[in-house]
Amino acid sequence: MSELPMTRADCEALDTADPLRSFRDRFDLPDGVIYLDGNSLGALPKATAPRLAEMVGGEWGGELIRGWLSRGWMAAPRAVGAKIARLVGAEADEVLVADTTAINLFKLLAAAIELNPGRTTVLSDTGNFPTDLYMVQGLGTLLGDRCRLRVVEPEAVEAAIDDDTAIVMLTEIDYRTGRRHDMARGTRAAHAKGALTIWDLAHSAGAIPVDLNRPLDLDGGRLDGPGADFAVGCGYKYLNGGPGAPAFLYVARRWQDKVRPALSGWLGHAEPFAFDLDYRPAPGIDRMICSTPSVLAVAALDCGVELMAEADAAARHAKSRALGDLFVGLVERDCAAHGFTLASPRNSTQRGSQVSFAHPQGYSIMQALIARGVIGDFRAPDLIRFGFAPLYNGHADVWDAVATLRAVMETAAWDRPEWRTRAAVT
Ligand SMILES: *Cc1c(COP(=O)(O)O)cnc(C)c1O
Repeated sequence: MSELPMTRADCEALDTADPLRSFRDRFDLPDGVIYLDGNSLGALPKATAPRLAEMVGGEWGGELIRGWLSRGWMAAPRAVGAKIARLVGAEADEVLVADTTAINLFKLLAAAIELNPGRTTVLSDTGNFPTDLYMVQGLGTLLGDRCRLRVVEPEAVEAAIDDDTAIVMLTEIDYRTGRRHDMARGTRAAHAKGALTIWDLAHSAGAIPVDLNRPLDLDGGRLDGPGADFAVGCGYKYLNGGPGAPAFLYVARRWQDKVRPALSGWLGHAEPFAFDLDYRPAPGIDRMICSTPSVLAVAALDCGVELMAEADAAARHAKSRALGDLFVGLVERDCAAHGFTLASPRNSTQRGSQVSFAHPQGYSIMQALIARGVIGDFRAPDLIRFGFAPLYNGHADVWDAVATLRAVMETAAWDRPEWRTRAAVT
């Protein structure tokens, strides 16, 4: 990174020159809060509340059941999926909004393991988010010896792919440290050994450039050859869809007519309104829809996705890297005496849009920060985690957050008995 700013005014000047500056006004952020947790729950777009009011009063109240057709409710999972597809380098008909991240993973795991008969291993790594591993364990209970989970260190994944690997299932950005897997390399290695890939984009979509059809390496180069097979992603993190927003799933076109949905719900039937007694899958990705879409929640997600789609992807990534670099530089300069160890990759091309520091008192320090309006979060055992959302965070926020952190450390404000026990949500 270039030289560190010496004053807050330097940061304000950087914000004035920021091409994404105007997006901040399109979010409702409470006064006095510096929100650095958009990687866990994205902020509220100003468009969302009026849109939901219209959905409830005008559409649901006014149209009643006619709304499924007259207001396009039935088509919403595909329509919003097509918008997300543009954010993750997929074709419009390869992405669908449905269910939750974990449920979509289960659907794709069950389908993919069947597409690779004779192989039983789902390979993942110790940096994965636990629910991803749990879903494989649950499927394994159901399928017996036809599915088993193998977990290795992130650096050991490539070498661990063997003739029994049915699926390589990785989360591109490690939720704790922000470490980024090389998607081009991982996809190539899996395919070379006959394995399929499932990428979890929970911390990628909206945060870093993603190209599922032509996966990117860490330097922006592209994989020449078949792209990702399957992927899932989260609606409530960088896509700003709201708490518990629906998630998305991606199925490469080449697999769409081959996957057999384990959750064979009526809306994935070829003719739902024929009410046949036997299941016949719909053509294309529609078969991966299980149930009636959560129309209000999909509309809220659409507001977040729309906003993200308006912002230039390269500008978003450049700003996210700059904010992360600034945070690392200021913490290491201004809090050097206080025992923080960088837990994220120093090189911004190798991390997502978040920075974590390890500290033995991490939990209490984060509580003290939150009490002062700087909201990040804590991940066991000792990480304080800060997400940088390029649409609504700026350089001055980073400056203020580090100044607050320094004050918390210098006054030992974290050292209070009530912050020694952990809350249910950290
Ligand atoms: C946030 C996140 C999830 C969330 O799963 P839910 O089903 O929405 O609870 C799953 N996987 C990863 C990697 C995540 O970061």
